[in-house]
Amino acid sequence: MITALYPGSFDPITNGHLDIATRASRIFDRTVIGIFATPSKHLTFTIDERVDLAQEATKNLPKVEVMPYYNVTVEFAREIGASVLVRGLRMVGDFEWEFEMAMMNQLLSPGLETVCFMASQEYQFLSASLIKEVSVLGGVGVKKINKFVPPHVAEALRKKFLAKR
Ligand code: ADP
Repeated sequence: MITALYPGSFDPITNGHLDIATRASRIFDRTVIGIFATPSKHLTFTIDERVDLAQEATKNLPKVEVMPYYNVTVEFAREIGASVLVRGLRMVGDFEWEFEMAMMNQLLSPGLETVCFMASQEYQFLSASLIKEVSVLGGVGVKKINKFVPPHVAEALRKKFLAKR
């Protein structure tokens, strides 16, 4: 039985992330979306909110689970018995960073393999940070984000940013 860990900040989960998780779940017996509680980047959603949004988004994917984690990714992978780290690669920008991280993780945990999935065409330019930038401005952007995030995530973004205005 192969468990794969798909780690990230998922702030919030997007259709690009879901695409990768769905494709991973066709290959691995169990895919755990691991939500890192304290990444160095600025966060919009709390760890509980990010977990809830991801759980709702994956409720129809029986081989996908969502778990928060608070320690180093390779340690969390060991805790849950994962032998594979899943990552998504967009055409521009991701490669160098993903490569660096894979090398570091190989050093920290030999045998834990990083498997990268090429982002699907329609999500090549989708990132959680871009979605947040569009949402924060309101107006037409907020209506159009429905293409890129599940409806409950669009709603959560609307609430979050309307509350701030
Ligand atoms: P983001 O880069 O959107 O802030 P995360 O830090 O949560 O997202 O990223 C987790 C993983 O998901 C990374 O490997 C990242 O490259 C990948 N990923 C993010 N957005 C997409 C997308 N649109 N298509 C494919 N993979 C993606």
